[in-house]
Amino acid sequence: MLHKEIPDAAGMESLGAALARQCPVGTKVFLQGQLGAGKTTLVRGFLRELGYSGIVKSPTYTLVEPYFLPGTTIYHFDLYRLNEPGELEAIGLRDYFDPEAICLIEWPEKAGRLLGKPDIDIKIEHHPVGRRVTISTPSLVGKTAKLSLF
Ligand code: ADP
Ligand code: MG
Repeated sequence: MLHKEIPDAAGMESLGAALARQCPVGTKVFLQGQLGAGKTTLVRGFLRELGYSGIVKSPTYTLVEPYFLPGTTIYHFDLYRLNEPGELEAIGLRDYFDPEAICLIEWPEKAGRLLGKPDIDIKIEHHPVGRRVTISTPSLVGKTAKLSLF
């Protein structure tokens, strides 16, 4: 487990960029933390690192936003508005967990057990100097990403 203090939004984007450099395809990343924690900011840094320069915002109403990038496909979920886990099956959850794609999921806890375990689990908390981020890699896939480089 790795703890990091991130003083500002630019630092959060840099962490997202570092994660993008380390993430193999097929990785499932959980992003946990209250509203305004900085989850989407991290996703923005992740996507910028992969060459996406457009707007990145939480897909709160649509639940998921796909990004079809040259090297890979990224699915960015925001499950805050999910009323019950079954709704995810209605949007075709299974199609998103494609071994060639990376899934970045805000509010994974709203999906109950449907999502299974993450490969990389990121928790963001408010902290006197900005945010405190805790990263762990519960699965084998996640362990191939080198935590020390984040
Ligand atoms: P979430 O997706 O978790 O709801 P956002 O990524 O939208 O949160 O970020 C909410 C706000 O927090 C934004 O104004 C963003 O610039 C700011 N922010 C992000 N990371 C940090 C940080 N490490 N320190 C201070 N502010 C941050
Ligand atoms: Mg968000």
